[in-house]
Amino acid sequence: MMKQAFFFISALFSIGQLFADGDYRYYVDLTSVNNDKLTIKLTPPDITENETVFMFPAMVPGTYDVYDFGRFVSNFKAEGKDGKTITVQKLDKNSYKLSPANAIKEISYEVEDTWDTDIKEKFVFEPGGTNIEEGKNFSLNTHGFFGYFKNKIEANFILEISKPKGFYASTSLTNIKSGETKDVISVFNYHDLVDSPIMYCMPDTASIQIGKSQILISVYSPNKILTSDFIARNLHELLFAQAEYLGGELPIDKYAFLFYFTDKATLSGASGALEHSYSSFYVLPEADTAALAQEIRDVAAHEFFHIVTPLNIHSKEIGEFDFNNPGMSKHLWLYEGLTEYAAHHMQVKTGLIEFDDFFNVMIDKMQNSRENYNDTVPFTVMSKYVLEKYKKQYNNVYEKGALIGMCLDIMLRYYSNGNYGTQDMMKDLAKQYGKNKSFNDDDLFNDIEKLSYKEIRYFLNNYVAGNKPLPYKETFAMVGLNYTDKKEEDQITLGGISVGYNPTSQHLVVVNTDKLDAFGKKLKFKEGDEIITFNNRKLGLDNMKDVLGSFIQNTKEGEKLVIEVLRKDKKGNESTKTLKAKVKKVKVVETDLLEINEKATEQQIAARKAWLGIN
Ligand SMILES: [Zn+2]
Repeated sequence: MMKQAFFFISALFSIGQLFADGDYRYYVDLTSVNNDKLTIKLTPPDITENETVFMFPAMVPGTYDVYDFGRFVSNFKAEGKDGKTITVQKLDKNSYKLSPANAIKEISYEVEDTWDTDIKEKFVFEPGGTNIEEGKNFSLNTHGFFGYFKNKIEANFILEISKPKGFYASTSLTNIKSGETKDVISVFNYHDLVDSPIMYCMPDTASIQIGKSQILISVYSPNKILTSDFIARNLHELLFAQAEYLGGELPIDKYAFLFYFTDKATLSGASGALEHSYSSFYVLPEADTAALAQEIRDVAAHEFFHIVTPLNIHSKEIGEFDFNNPGMSKHLWLYEGLTEYAAHHMQVKTGLIEFDDFFNVMIDKMQNSRENYNDTVPFTVMSKYVLEKYKKQYNNVYEKGALIGMCLDIMLRYYSNGNYGTQDMMKDLAKQYGKNKSFNDDDLFNDIEKLSYKEIRYFLNNYVAGNKPLPYKETFAMVGLNYTDKKEEDQITLGGISVGYNPTSQHLVVVNTDKLDAFGKKLKFKEGDEIITFNNRKLGLDNMKDVLGSFIQNTKEGEKLVIEVLRKDKKGNESTKTLKAKVKKVKVVETDLLEINEKATEQQIAARKAWLGIN
């Protein structure tokens, strides 16, 4: 790895090309922020019609939610050539009718950013939103600033951006003419523009070379807690593993990871990332580096795998995306589910994480998908109506969607004696379709059946398009694992409390008592109790595993447990309390248990080895 300022070499374009009549020419001055707004000016491409409609997107690919970016636009004006008056009529949140359209000289409007907007409804998921932070950072998710004329998205977009001295434009776009205080960026059409976020700030960039692929990492961390060096170190190994998983090399020449680390809570209450063809944009908490490292790897692995799907395997709804009247595909299980599965499966298969860590992630997903979502609405139906009726089910694409991926992978490996899995299937589908060739939603299962087995078609019909909960027992059996959905047992417990840590007092804290069991009730835990000693041993982060683990393993019923806690009363006065009770076993229900089947068949063992990458 080498640290350097990162430049995608821009093709030099001539002035003549710059000002072709068919181009959109946008002007923005990042040094001129008024009331947290930027003024955008547009010299439109030649318009021959007498009337036209100018639009901002209602929705953009990858978000699966309607945000109406026109809501953030104000003071929309059109100036006519030779003093002609242009009539502007606002049609709805996102569109303006203009006439006479062929006489428009310039359009101008103001945009406020979504990240700290005063519009207190329907917050935009920050990685797909916009940030105007004068003198510090401008996150141009381009669809939040630049609109298009109806039926005119296939035209060059030229952005002339004036910027504070020293600011650097991080993006995957390559056609950039970069100056000290002004950049000129040229983009082929509106789809590519929306597909290419640009982050402006003082540069903190690193670059990684993986085979023929050049990867940019750009970081904005307001308190300099995270650096591009740190991220690059974390992603280097991950990207190598990703290349290995994808068959030896990364299927792109260049890619940009754009990270904005925030030291405030986000309006949407979420953090995460949004994928694009050659980049991904991250908004994550600016936190202690150690805690964040695995999260960054998981999110980055997920976003990066989107270069497989939906970017190279997608239906018409996505390939011919309609920014103002989007149709939904039935196959979110593929776009998001398989992506999420691959992000974790890649890490276990290439040895970046332990088997146990992988299984724990999958088991969490099983529990979440059952507890928090409707497990019997067919996934294809949920996907098709995710903008309205099944909006609240969307996040299940990361839970059950990933588990569909896992089941499919296991089955493929079993029926092929370990020779074929979802890795191969995705490669074959990407070959068959590709970035510019969409499939029909209704053809996908046929195409997958052709690549695989009739049993796979049965699975897709019944468990993806059907309403049956996933067949974990039968599926894990194929890789020689015994799965138990539920087991009841009398066990020694800690009372059913959830425990957190208070770094100031260095005590473990009882943070939740919602699931107190009979023993916990006898001890009379209260939320907020800070545990000082546990059976006369001082308890801290360092010895927690030892103290609590040996209690659970070595204690017999009837023995005494004494816990000393610090408790605040209603007035905030703290005092020490002693909690004691005789230890008593309680019924504990455990779910989703996995163990190796010692009597597994050769076919099952071969499938397991192929699945987990064991030699
Ligand atoms: Zn995703």
